[in-house]
Amino acid sequence: MARPNHAGPASAAPDPRSIDTDDRPFVLIWEVTQACDLACDHCRADAQPARHPEELTTEEGKRLLDEAREFGEGQLVVLSGGDPLARPDLLELVEYGTEIGLRVTLTPSGTSSLTPAVVGDLADAGVRRLALSLDGASAESHDDFRGEAGSFEQTVEAAAAAREAGLPLQINTTVCASTADELPALRDRVADLGAVLWSVFFLVPVGRGQLLDPVSPERAEEILAWLSEVSEESPFGVKTTEAPHYRRVAIQRRRDASEAPPEDGIGRRLGITAGDGFAFVSHTGELYPSGFLPESAGSVREEDLVGLYRESDLFRSLRDPDALSGKCGACEFRHVCGGSRSRAYAHAGDPTASDPLCAYVPEGYDGPMPAGRVD
Ligand code: SF4
Repeated sequence: MARPNHAGPASAAPDPRSIDTDDRPFVLIWEVTQACDLACDHCRADAQPARHPEELTTEEGKRLLDEAREFGEGQLVVLSGGDPLARPDLLELVEYGTEIGLRVTLTPSGTSSLTPAVVGDLADAGVRRLALSLDGASAESHDDFRGEAGSFEQTVEAAAAAREAGLPLQINTTVCASTADELPALRDRVADLGAVLWSVFFLVPVGRGQLLDPVSPERAEEILAWLSEVSEESPFGVKTTEAPHYRRVAIQRRRDASEAPPEDGIGRRLGITAGDGFAFVSHTGELYPSGFLPESAGSVREEDLVGLYRESDLFRSLRDPDALSGKCGACEFRHVCGGSRSRAYAHAGDPTASDPLCAYVPEGYDGPMPAGRVD
């Protein structure tokens, strides 16, 4: 049964088509802590058992939320980690953000801390969506990936608790060589859990993720085409993270099927990439274009979040598809895709370089292929 929300009237989501990503992000992630009891193979944050002494304080966090609200009514803020439940002031932050007109969602870790009572408290505080990670379709494969026995069971229980509390559920899955074969079974799990969105993250070699093998560009291409089919057939939505060429693949599929070009097709962009519709505040207050692109535009402790997002050279360059180099720069899909800027940075040290995970080569392109390309 859905529980009443005690945190005041809910803010409406702005129409995504009305958002100018030069002005505001679709999604602002705040890594409230790096502390976490899990030790996942892919962890971007290199999460630690203890909280960092220089994490943003409660007051600094509230000031950050106030600044996020200046982007506009209904700004989406994802409280992430580490495990956000490691912060004792989490409910206070959720309530505060909700009261001032933000839409606050949460990505807790699947641990024993995430009890049905905690999920209910989060719903009462105003959380709008719970995102849980599932990287294997069985207890054995998921727990092995997350480095903790029992995590699968706790995640499934938390998903049930979210349903009970009336909280929409998102499932996040990492795609790499060791998880790719389980994707069909994971799709079935996502449906069984009643999720509204499946967020499929293509590994970027950052943090402990450097120890894992990515899929090849050709395998990624097959998976993206398959995900495009899944999105048409499933009761839940599908989005990719760090694989914006999902949009190129979807457009090409429709063209091949001689269907009318999609309304959000080439020339019109609804997706987001690092720094362009997406921003990430680290546990110590550095503003990064994404959690997988650790180049700071400045500290929100010292500078204004909105100004950094809109005006910093780093963020402005990432919002200019014509500043891309290599085959992404030569690609006719660069305005709808643009490639993963985080993966380009991880491989080439240059966020404007080409994305080595993309198999597409623009017609007539004879320049260098991306660094780190696996074929
Ligand atoms: S070449 Fe770059 S811009 Fe073109 S589809 Fe691939 S990743 Fe996207």
